[in-house]
Amino acid sequence: MRPSATPSPDAIVIGGGVNGCSIAYRLAADGRRVLLLERRGICSGASGRNGGMTGAGSAMHAQSPAGRAVAALSTANLALLRGLAEELETDFYLQMSGSLDVFTTEEERDHLAAAAASQRAAGISMEMLDRAEAHALMPALAPDVLGAAYLGDRGHLWPFALVNGFADAARRHGAEIRTWSPVAALHRAGDRVAGVVVDGAVIPAGEVVLATNAYTPELLPELPPGAIVPARGQILVTQPVPPVLPRPFGTNFDKEYGRQAATGQIICGGFRRFDVNEGLGTYEERVTPPVLSGIARCLTELFPALRGGGVKVVRAWAGIMGFTADGLPLIGRYDPAPGLTVAAGFNGNGFTWGAVVGTIVADLLAGRPPRFDLEPFRPDRFQRAAIAWDNPFTAGERNNPRADAPVAATPG
Ligand SMILES: Cc1cc2nc3c(=O)[nH]c(=O)nc-3n(C[C@H](O)[C@H](O)[C@H](O)COP(=O)(O)OP(=O)(O)OC[C@H]3O[C@@H](n4cnc5c(N)ncnc54)[C@H](O)[C@@H]3O)c2cc1C
Repeated sequence: MRPSATPSPDAIVIGGGVNGCSIAYRLAADGRRVLLLERRGICSGASGRNGGMTGAGSAMHAQSPAGRAVAALSTANLALLRGLAEELETDFYLQMSGSLDVFTTEEERDHLAAAAASQRAAGISMEMLDRAEAHALMPALAPDVLGAAYLGDRGHLWPFALVNGFADAARRHGAEIRTWSPVAALHRAGDRVAGVVVDGAVIPAGEVVLATNAYTPELLPELPPGAIVPARGQILVTQPVPPVLPRPFGTNFDKEYGRQAATGQIICGGFRRFDVNEGLGTYEERVTPPVLSGIARCLTELFPALRGGGVKVVRAWAGIMGFTADGLPLIGRYDPAPGLTVAAGFNGNGFTWGAVVGTIVADLLAGRPPRFDLEPFRPDRFQRAAIAWDNPFTAGERNNPRADAPVAATPG
């Protein structure tokens, strides 16, 4: 294969989402010559198609070494986010208003109460509220809402501004960001990853970082099938309306979620269970009417003020998440192939990870001692054990009283 005319960078980052841009920024700020390659535009993948919720902790991960590691990283991520507007010279509309996980059934309440106990044990703020307390924090809630869990360290942001803020800051530190540049393959020299193949030419580099989320199996085919699976999520956006949601909400085992942006628009997603195979296994960025009508119904059921046809839906989109078999991302050096680092598979909450992941990868590549327990996130863990599908982002669908559509089996 012919060598590329591109001068060899110290590090190549593949993928221009929140993780790739955050990593490129930190590596460039460390003084490395960085080339970021993105096959479409910056923020064109899941990072530009999500709900914009962020915060510390995850009710998805119970108390365990992995759960504690998730709590530690997401807490550090939130601390970074709080200072990033100034550091990146970008206002990404971070609003740390707290969020409400509202419940309408006893089953959901029990699930949230158990999650609250384990989150508090990990140092994450999560309190159970009764009906009156929940309505006091969110007066527009329907009367049949029984209560909520209040997550104090949660909020929302404008993903597009944050990701582009990282990319711009990376450029200011000398990184080259090349869009519409698909990487066809990793360039291997024996076991080692020594560069990438773009346009039929090799660009050599000392370090390659895969930040390709759902698309990672394309470039790392040795990942066992089922380790990272594409999962389609869909969002609808209303016209601007007067304030209804003072803080973001989640409901139904966190399957549905929404927030009101500073513009007044309500951004709401969920109802993957109304999609073909729960949206699992497809890379098609296409919205489907059953999912969108489910989301719209959820909004009007929970917030009666939005009923009556007066509020118009002005946009809808689909995005592809990278779900992992165990619901945890892959973060770290990929031991079977020196020269390769992976940051991928961020499931349904990449904005609770992206900022801190940049610092973690920069530390790893600089040989600085790790500040976090990365063992639960080892990128080669699926090669070392049989894969069993146990992704909490796909749990709770079938035992849900609102799940009135058939679903197919999840991948194994
Ligand atoms: C509908 C929906 C709602 C969501 N809601 C939330 C939410 O509220 N809060 C939250 O935290 N998270 C949410 N998420 C998840 C979140 O968006 C993701 O976890 C996060 O964006 C992952 O970021 P990333 O940088 O790892 O991946 P991505 O943003 O997907 O970026 C990967 C990039 O790699 C590029 N790429 C792939 N292959 C190649 C190649 N061969 N060569 C070059 N480039 C390549 C892709 O084009 C893409 O731009 C949601 C996602 C969706 C779809």
